[in-house]
Amino acid sequence: MSFDGEYLMTIDGRAVAGEASMAVINPANEAVIAQVPDASRAQLDAAVTAASRAFPIWSARPLAERQKLVAAIGACLDQHKDMLSRIITLEQGKSRAGSDWEVATSADWCRAVSTFSLPVEVIQDTDERRVEIRHTPIGVVGAITPWNAPILMAIWKLAPALLAGNTVVLKPSPYTPLATLELGRLLQDVLPPGVVNVVSGGNDLGQWMTDHPAIGKVSFTGSTATGRRVMESAAKTLKRITLELGGNDAAIVLPDVDPKAVAPQLFWGAFFNSAQVCVAIKRLYVHSDIYDAVAHELVEYAKTVTVGDGALQGVDLGPVQNKAQFEKVKGLLDDARAKGQRFLLGGEASKGPGYFIPISIVDNPPEDSRVVVEEAFGPVLPLLKFDDINDVIRRANDTDTGLGGSVWSGDVDKAREIAGMLQTGTVWINEMFAFSPEAPFSGHKQSGVGVEHGMQGLLEFTNTQTITSRKLATA
Ligand code: NAD
Repeated sequence: MSFDGEYLMTIDGRAVAGEASMAVINPANEAVIAQVPDASRAQLDAAVTAASRAFPIWSARPLAERQKLVAAIGACLDQHKDMLSRIITLEQGKSRAGSDWEVATSADWCRAVSTFSLPVEVIQDTDERRVEIRHTPIGVVGAITPWNAPILMAIWKLAPALLAGNTVVLKPSPYTPLATLELGRLLQDVLPPGVVNVVSGGNDLGQWMTDHPAIGKVSFTGSTATGRRVMESAAKTLKRITLELGGNDAAIVLPDVDPKAVAPQLFWGAFFNSAQVCVAIKRLYVHSDIYDAVAHELVEYAKTVTVGDGALQGVDLGPVQNKAQFEKVKGLLDDARAKGQRFLLGGEASKGPGYFIPISIVDNPPEDSRVVVEEAFGPVLPLLKFDDINDVIRRANDTDTGLGGSVWSGDVDKAREIAGMLQTGTVWINEMFAFSPEAPFSGHKQSGVGVEHGMQGLLEFTNTQTITSRKLATA
């Protein structure tokens, strides 16, 4: 069914209704757009049982067959791009261009991952002994995703988990389950029953997954606070975990850049998807020599950008995705105003309907203000002045998280030197969001545990197996 119809879960290759249901809201107008299944514990058990049953057959299939089927998921996304994109905009709020990008990037990602294979490393091969290291699948993977990019976040887990030979139970955010439920329905025609199961429900369902004894690994993307709970709960059964969590990413702009040329890139680096991107620029440090010029160019550029219902033509940025997040970002704006901080743009949340926050830029607030210290995950950006490079590196690192960061300069060697001093898993130089299926992505400090993407990310969906064989003398 498209979004005009009924949304159902996928368990063991079949469409399954919930024993209870929950409402999904369009963040652009707060209207209820669908009722979706709210899975019971028994339904989660059924999904895990189906995945466990499918595992021996799926993992025994030759790698080439799994590669072909991961590529087929990409082709399926391409084929249904328009429908999925419409649903993403409806439930998540982002512009149609943003949703098109999300589905197309997900399809490309599947194709890239479908070319990966699992290495077998021979570390000793003598007359006496051969020692080889293999990577075997774990079993059932529980994939738990957030609401900012529902399909891309799901594919970042599904593609490598399946390629490595695991089966999956996937749970989207209760705020954005629709496109993921649709993906599950589409995959019923692509994959054998039980290989991918999609269940929807509230946060309890996530907790049941992290507790579940038959789930061998949890791959989680979401907030640092929930990540802590996942780790605690997974400890009971010593599950493998990958946690991709929040951050408070700094961009450092050196005085040798052209403010006008760099302003659009900085803008989109901060505000793409209404700033609901884990690695968005969340603190923008600009050298005092060009601070005023960058501030001016950013504001001028921002004025050309349209905020509104993402489903409407000409809209570039949609609302904040849900009411809780809206209230959180509104709280940061209210705090900045109450403390007398100056807005170069925006500053006042809309009264609704819809969770709209205008593009808001705060002029050099104190380093300890809430808008600097807290991850906004919404369209409010503190613009901060610096003079000394060592001091700004210290300020950039002065946080418990360490997800991403960026350095902007004509002197790439110098920028690389600064990048090496940032305590983050990813640093981009003179660009943003340069994700690649081949490049590992990870969080330092409290931004995560483990790695996604690249060979390291793929191997996180495996157990290491060392096979040592002593060669016997034959007669
Ligand atoms: P969230 O932590 O509230 O929810 C994420 C998912 O976890 C949802 O599916 C939710 O239902 C589930 N969940 C909630 N409680 C759970 C529990 N106790 N056990 C298991 N699962 C549970 O996060 P969110 O608000 O959906 O997403 C926003 C956050 O995600 C931001 O902090 C952002 O930085 C982060 N994020 C990180 C990345 C990354 O790759 N590092 C990407 C996107 C978003």
